[in-house]
Order: sequence, then C-alpha cells, then structure tokens
Amino acid sequence: DVRHGPILYLEDVTVSFDGFKAIDTLNLTIDDGELRCIIGPNGAGKTTMMDIITGKTRPDSGKVWFGSRHDLLTMSEPQIASLGIGRKFQKPTVFEALSVFENLELAMAADKRILPTLTARMTGEIRERIDEVLLTIGLVEQRQRSASILSHGQKQWLEIGMLLMQRPRLLLVDEPVAGMTEQEMERTAELLTGLAGKQSVVVVEHDMGFVRSIARKVTVLHQGSVLAEGSMDQVASDPRVVEVYLGA
Ligand code: ADP
Repeated sequence: DVRHGPILYLEDVTVSFDGFKAIDTLNLTIDDGELRCIIGPNGAGKTTMMDIITGKTRPDSGKVWFGSRHDLLTMSEPQIASLGIGRKFQKPTVFEALSVFENLELAMAADKRILPTLTARMTGEIRERIDEVLLTIGLVEQRQRSASILSHGQKQWLEIGMLLMQRPRLLLVDEPVAGMTEQEMERTAELLTGLAGKQSVVVVEHDMGFVRSIARKVTVLHQGSVLAEGSMDQVASDPRVVEVYLGA
C-alpha cells in the first residue's frame, strides 16, 4: 500500500541537561514506511532523541508530532506507546523462563486494550498473529523452546517479535546487531528491511557495514543536531562527517 507524508516529525527540538544542550535545534522527518538509520559519534544525542520520541525525556522547546494528528509533547509515555510506537533497547529482555511462544503471547497480553475482550475468538486471532510473527522473525522451529537456550541473535529477533505482536506503526531499534555473528547480522538486515513498508523503522547503529546494507537514507547526528542526511555514500563522502568520525 502506498502511504503519504511523515509519520514522525521533530522541529527545532532542544533539550539541555545542566545547561549542556544534548539536543540542539534538531529537525527530523521520518516518512511512513521508511527505514532510517541514525548514526553519529558517542554523545551525539542519539539516545536522548529516542527518549524524546517515546516521551521519556521532555524537550525544553520544539515540536514532536506523530502523523498529523498527535502532538507527542502533550502525551504521557504510555499514551505514546499506545499509539503504536515500540522501542527495542540494545540488551534483549525476553523472559528466559518462558518458551518463545509464551513470550509472544505475553507481549500480546501486555496490550491492555485487548484484555477486557479476551474471548475464545480473540485467542484464535492471537495464535494466528503469533504464527505470523514467528515466520517474520524466523523462529518457527524454536516456538516451543525455552527462550533461555536461544542464541544472542535469536533473543534479539524474539524481542522484535514481541514488539510486532502489537502491530506498531513505528519501531525504534537501538543497536540491533551489537554482538551478533556475520550470519545473524545478515538475517537481521533481512528482517528489518522486510518490516519497513509495513511499518516505519528507525535504527540507531554503530556498525557502518550494517547501516550500508539496510538503509536507503542515513541521518548523521552530531552535537545534538543533524550534520548530514542522505544515502550512505553521500554522507560518508561529506567532509564534515569524515572530520567528525576521524576527529581530524
Ligand atoms: P548518544 O546516544 O549519541 O551517545 P546521548 O543522547 O546518550 O548520546 O548523550 C548526548 C549528550 O547528553 C552526552 O554528552 C551525554 O553525556 C548527555 N546526557 C545524556 N543524558 C543525560 C542526563 N540525563 N544528564 C546529563 N547529561 C546527559
């Protein structure tokens, strides 16, 4: 399906911690269905930016909109999450004592909206959704296995699956391939590129090879604002980006 317009819109966003501007006049637009990679040196403001989008950190000034209808600065963290904004932190937090299937089931139950109407029919729908998600994350054969015996990569995919259970419209993903093998990275690239289009995906990542393999558009953050934006080749050949990364 063809979609139009931005799903996420940040305008002139600034936030200071003890007088230090961690985010400084940041402008960012993410289109619906887009897969965007955010890169930048340590301290560039990437984590703070994600915290602002999810409502964990409140900016001092600026605008943050989700679609054309939701002013995120007027909403609480749970309200923002319930719009369909899911965040995956770097460290996987799957429930090790449960099976892959049960982890996905639990992720669905965590959606408060469905609990009061959990009928037999809904249960069937949840099973179907779990099957769909298992296929997407490539863990069909592991469905009955304990999450504790999954590889690091498989745990990361399961956690993405847990977010997908609630059909998010925007996924924020923090360093998905840290600690992964080459093969796991390739599978993660397929997974994330496959998700884009169905939902928007914003990935913060340090591994440039991985970024190059998935992103059509890359945003380089530096000192809390956008230093460069474009294809990986465009930003990698931008002298300002080279200077920031090499410290020249
Ligand atoms: P990145 O994720 O790109 O490494 P961060 O968003 O974590 O960058 O940090 C941006 C800057 O803001 C850093 O200089 C960091 O020290 C500072 N910072 C982030 N959060 C806080 C906080 N809660 N209190 C004080 N300084 C902070």
